[in-house]
Amino acid sequence: MPKEISRRALIEMSVAGAAALAAAEAKAVDRSALPNDQKIGFAVVGLGKLSQGQIIPGLRKARSAKLAAVVSGHPDKAKRIAAAEGLPADAIYSYEDYDRIAKDPRIQIVYIVLPNSMHAEYTIRALKAGKHVLCEKPMATNITDCEAMIAAAKAANRKLMIAYRCHYEPKNLEAMRRIRAGAIGKPRLIVTDMGRQADPSDPSDAWRLDRKMAGDGALGDMGVYGVSASRYLLNEEPVEVRAWADTEKKDPRFATTDDLIAWQFRFPSGAICNGSTSYNYNATMAFEVWGEKARLRADPGCFYGGNRFAMVDGSRFTELDIAEIDQFAREMDWMADAVRGKAPLVSPGEEGLQDMRLMKAITDSLARGGAPIRTDWGYKRAVDPAAVVDIVA
Ligand code: NDP
Repeated sequence: MPKEISRRALIEMSVAGAAALAAAEAKAVDRSALPNDQKIGFAVVGLGKLSQGQIIPGLRKARSAKLAAVVSGHPDKAKRIAAAEGLPADAIYSYEDYDRIAKDPRIQIVYIVLPNSMHAEYTIRALKAGKHVLCEKPMATNITDCEAMIAAAKAANRKLMIAYRCHYEPKNLEAMRRIRAGAIGKPRLIVTDMGRQADPSDPSDAWRLDRKMAGDGALGDMGVYGVSASRYLLNEEPVEVRAWADTEKKDPRFATTDDLIAWQFRFPSGAICNGSTSYNYNATMAFEVWGEKARLRADPGCFYGGNRFAMVDGSRFTELDIAEIDQFAREMDWMADAVRGKAPLVSPGEEGLQDMRLMKAITDSLARGGAPIRTDWGYKRAVDPAAVVDIVA
């Protein structure tokens, strides 16, 4: 695998180099699965909707990662899932005996798939147990917790990755590469809209409508995809934000969180982002980038599958013909490859913290009636996903 060449090529990646890079990629990617005994073992913490619907199925398809243990507050459910996945009884942990994972060499990575307010505690406990951590988005519900998680990873000398699946998804990556390569000309405006209808009768949504457990409702859950997308598509960081909210207070879903939040980011290049999120939208995860020469439209852009990306020139739409992958298998393989020393961390804790700080700036602006908030604190992404993903590992 031409790992070193690829890394160097990508660090030096220029607009002109993008096509050559795509050709190199075709040669560099090795998709063959490792033998089972060489795969990296994951403990999945919290056996809810995402774990059962996407993560455990994703681990079955992964090439470098495998399920090694489960952690749950419901022993019957845990036993049923463990049995179905062929795990022995001693690979089931409860939240109370979770710290015993320290002595379990089958587990190298702990995947935190709990309500947002629990991410920090279970991440830090796993790091203290000497494990690497993949943590679901949003990283936490506040900046202090994100900072504590990063500090714990440094203290333990373990890796902390935030599960931003779109950083590893081929259509999003192609969009990044095309924009970096100048395919739409200079980007001027980006619009990101992320939302859905929240259903309080669904236990997975009940906690999402509780500010204590979820943070800022739709903003942390759905809006974070737009905050993150505007940054990875433009490959720059916002310097200023303004935001507005509208909440139907008679709607019992919005007793503690906002319903519709809209914001504007101003970027150093002059580009502007209009972002929105809501738990009272028809399901959408869409973005569109207007450039001087063309426009890139993704609608949907961040669903688990069925995403449709198109280059648009006036009224002419050319859909990108890119194969779907299992986004969860891809992301877990990347984390496993990072632990194996084969790939850099593309979405480390610092990325989650940057999004959290920007979301805090959005809510600060809301609290001040839409006043502009400076966000030019000098954050720089360590690794450009467009430059490495699918090429290094
Ligand atoms: P669920 O509510 O379906 O699952 C969460 C699980 O956490 C529960 O099933 C439960 O598992 C455990 N849990 C422990 N304590 C509590 C508690 N007090 N209240 C509720 N659950 C508890 O949520 P999701 O699976 O939808 O979401 C989990 C995380 O994944 C969230 O951070 C969310 O943002 C993220 N997510 C990410 C997505 C992505 O595309 N990357 C998509 C969907 C969610 P047990 O019974 O086993 O203890």
